[in-house]
Amino acid sequence: MKENAIYPGTFDPITNGHTDIIERAGKIFDKVIIAVAKETSKECIFPLEERVELAKAATTHLNNVCVEGFTGLSVDYIKSKNSSIMIRGLRAVSDFEFELQLSLANRDLCHDVETLYLIPKKEYIYLSSSLLKQIIKSGGDVNQWAHPKVIAALKNQLR
Ligand code: ADP
Repeated sequence: MKENAIYPGTFDPITNGHTDIIERAGKIFDKVIIAVAKETSKECIFPLEERVELAKAATTHLNNVCVEGFTGLSVDYIKSKNSSIMIRGLRAVSDFEFELQLSLANRDLCHDVETLYLIPKKEYIYLSSSLLKQIIKSGGDVNQWAHPKVIAALKNQLR
């Protein structure tokens, strides 16, 4: 497969669930760009630069992956990278409604971009950045769900 694929998201912060999706995409495409969104409907605890740095730290083992911050629409960013593939992750059924809306809206915005959904391994099906934050705040151990640098940054921010 020749094409590059773009994985857009908030990544506040990146978890092992995200990394699982990135590893899968990296086996299918020549190059995967993790595109960290500056504007998001969610209230982020990390600024864009730190979300980018943490995503880089968590993916140093993947040599066909790079990380960039972006502003504006993800379909516009994807076209600016000469790609037509958006990667998203699907966890439980609860993701479906939102992801369906998002992919249909993106298709209306840009007919040339196709969204591909990948499913993580079972261990990460219920993992989210918000769950990580809640567990860290309550003093729990999250070693199995995030990169050590991500955990250190979360502890620093939340405890
Ligand atoms: P967004 O705010 O764009 O939903 P996120 O950073 O929360 O950004 O997630 C980006 C993408 O990664 C979404 O498609 C989301 O469903 C997916 N994702 C998040 N956590 C996981 C996980 N544990 N396993 C698989 N996919 C995930």
